[in-house]
Amino acid sequence: MTNILTNLQELNNLIQVAKKRAQRETDDVQIIAVTKEVSVERTQEAIDTGLQHLGENRPEGLQRKLASIQADVHWHYIGSLQTRKVKQVINSVDYLHSLDRMSLAEEIEKRAEQPVKCFVQVNVSGEESKHGLTIEEVLPFIESLKAFTKVQIVGLMTMAPNTDDTEVIRSVFKQLKQCQQQIAEQRFGHAPCTELSMGMSNDFEIAVEEGATFVRVGTALVGNERGEQDEHEK
Ligand SMILES: *Cc1c(COP(=O)(O)O)cnc(C)c1O
Repeated sequence: MTNILTNLQELNNLIQVAKKRAQRETDDVQIIAVTKEVSVERTQEAIDTGLQHLGENRPEGLQRKLASIQADVHWHYIGSLQTRKVKQVINSVDYLHSLDRMSLAEEIEKRAEQPVKCFVQVNVSGEESKHGLTIEEVLPFIESLKAFTKVQIVGLMTMAPNTDDTEVIRSVFKQLKQCQQQIAEQRFGHAPCTELSMGMSNDFEIAVEEGATFVRVGTALVGNERGEQDEHEK
């Protein structure tokens, strides 16, 4: 396994340089260490390195880590969430990145003990394999959540399409940002929508250039159980 501290330093450098290119030097970009593919021990190591935002994408994985890790960190749920599993997750996390339908919002409203910071997941590219609303659906969906007291819309989240074409990826991130600004301008009390969750190991630099405030990085930071080999073969 690679050294997390070395990876983090490299990641911080690349983020810094990308911010500079985009003249975003003073903006905060939070790194979410995606620990879904690594052990409890490796997750603890990431926390010991100073990482304060951790991301999991399965209720079971999240609960396994919460059971053995007592650290004052922020947990992010980044995977798609079945309605019947909301109760296993919602009171253990600070952020949900995958709000994509009314039935999920209703279940959160019913189960959450505190307001939950949610990102609306958007499928900008329209790839069939991806979850999320279309760009056109985002505003009406957010408007329909006005009366909800436990669902606080802090921003929008997307996953870039699986392509090597960086201009396609960039265009997806640009469209998400435009949509986010359009919502933020409405000044909704329940939906400040100031944040952009976008960028993973392979595309975080483009995401930072296009305005990401949270990047979700797994492989390039903590690695994965499939081994380091994967990464070099890409
Ligand atoms: C796994 C995952 C990530 C991290 O992916 P890497 O390529 O390993 O950095 C980010 N976001 C979501 C939603 C994921 O499922």
